[in-house]
Amino acid sequence: MTIREGKEFDVIVAGAGCAGFCAAVQAGRGGMNTALFEHFAMPGGTLTVLGSNSIDQFCNPHRPAGDRQVIAGIGWEFVRELERRGFAEIPDMDAPYRVHWQYGVKVNPIAAAQCMDDFLLEAGVRLFYRQGVVAVETTDTPSGIRMDAVIVSTKDGLVRHRARFFIDCTGDGDLCAWAGGEYEIGESLQPGTIRLYPSGSTASSALARADQIWQEQVVQSPALSNMLCSGRFEDFLRAGGDNTNHVCGLNTADSENRTVVEIQSRRDQVRLLSALREGGAPVTVLASAPESAARESRRILGDVYMTGEDYLARRVYEDAVCYTYWFIDIHRENQPSEIIYLHDGKTPTVPLGAMRPRGFTNVYTAGRCVSSDRSANSAIRVKASCMAMGQAAGAAVVLASDADTRSVDMNALRACLSAQGAIVPE
Ligand SMILES: Cc1cc2nc3c(=O)[nH]c(=O)nc-3n(C[C@H](O)[C@H](O)[C@H](O)COP(=O)(O)OP(=O)(O)OC[C@H]3O[C@@H](n4cnc5c(N)ncnc54)[C@H](O)[C@@H]3O)c2cc1C
Repeated sequence: MTIREGKEFDVIVAGAGCAGFCAAVQAGRGGMNTALFEHFAMPGGTLTVLGSNSIDQFCNPHRPAGDRQVIAGIGWEFVRELERRGFAEIPDMDAPYRVHWQYGVKVNPIAAAQCMDDFLLEAGVRLFYRQGVVAVETTDTPSGIRMDAVIVSTKDGLVRHRARFFIDCTGDGDLCAWAGGEYEIGESLQPGTIRLYPSGSTASSALARADQIWQEQVVQSPALSNMLCSGRFEDFLRAGGDNTNHVCGLNTADSENRTVVEIQSRRDQVRLLSALREGGAPVTVLASAPESAARESRRILGDVYMTGEDYLARRVYEDAVCYTYWFIDIHRENQPSEIIYLHDGKTPTVPLGAMRPRGFTNVYTAGRCVSSDRSANSAIRVKASCMAMGQAAGAAVVLASDADTRSVDMNALRACLSAQGAIVPE
């Protein structure tokens, strides 16, 4: 098979979700010749293409008013710019909201993707959309596995691009897993979600009728009963779909599984559509995201392994590079999520070691696939945290000596992140 020779970069970032976006912008601003490869035709990943448009959470609402923000940097700069353009709603961090998600920043996905384009291009990042990485090439060296190149799929066939550093922000940790990196993946994973966009009347009588039809369908089909997290169709409609439905059995790191599960999920969605139509409900579902979004898949093991216990103890790691704020939030099939809230002003941190995959010399991970147990992962996966991790990885490659991610001076890294507006744990 012919593989065309592509280009040579300082750093290749794979995956343009919240983590990859910030990693690429930071590396580009740091003067690195940076390339960003993305499987979809737009940046944002779960935030944009897959329709989960809330960014949680830049603040720890248990801290004193006026001092609640724990994550800033590029992610924050991005939402502020989006707000300036009229496409983001940033809540008042000092408000005494009762529900955690009220502190999330809601964005318009189209405008968000376009704003990300602007940030990336302004940082000088070379963009390769619709060019997913399909393979990696490595060399075994005395100090560990060195990643040399990625093979990407384009409309002109396969192309090889080389770099000195790689940042795996694919959510599923594709690059590291393919290169032989160690990882964990649960036997049963949290359900994913396909974003559906319902449309129609939200009058009580309409909702009641739709709910009645839904209940009738659930009784007929146990598979459908898993679809709504809360079991209430009304919640689904009032939330405009959002993330209130579940796709069970989804493993996005397994293409065969995905094919079967997505087919079943579509079948369930159309059963629901047909039932709504036949029952004369004044609501329907107008559209869906192109595929389901994953809450959990591979977690790439790094030099540091974050555990749920450390998370709840709000451990400040020696090599902490950012704060993270969310609660332990494990979605489950057919039953309520397992939730453990944080109740005080102490804030968990993320160490650089959790983003440095074991056994590699020139690779970082950032975002959902970083080194963590299932419990910690259920909390650190939220978007503002992914953005902060991405920025830290992007800054680390700027400071790493040639081809060695273990050489980063932590004081220099913290200073670099602070200079870029990030909040760094002390
Ligand atoms: C249904 C759902 C609801 C959620 N709700 C919230 C919420 O309300 N608030 C919140 O803050 N968080 C929420 N989360 C969590 C959060 O959205 C994700 O964990 C986070 O967006 C992950 O960011 P990421 O950058 O790590 O990965 P992703 O957003 O998954 O981005 C990964 C990117 O990599 C690309 N990619 C994958 N493989 C390849 C490859 N081989 N080559 C090139 N590109 C590749 C993908 O196309 C994608 O664009 C939710 C998650 C889900 C699934």
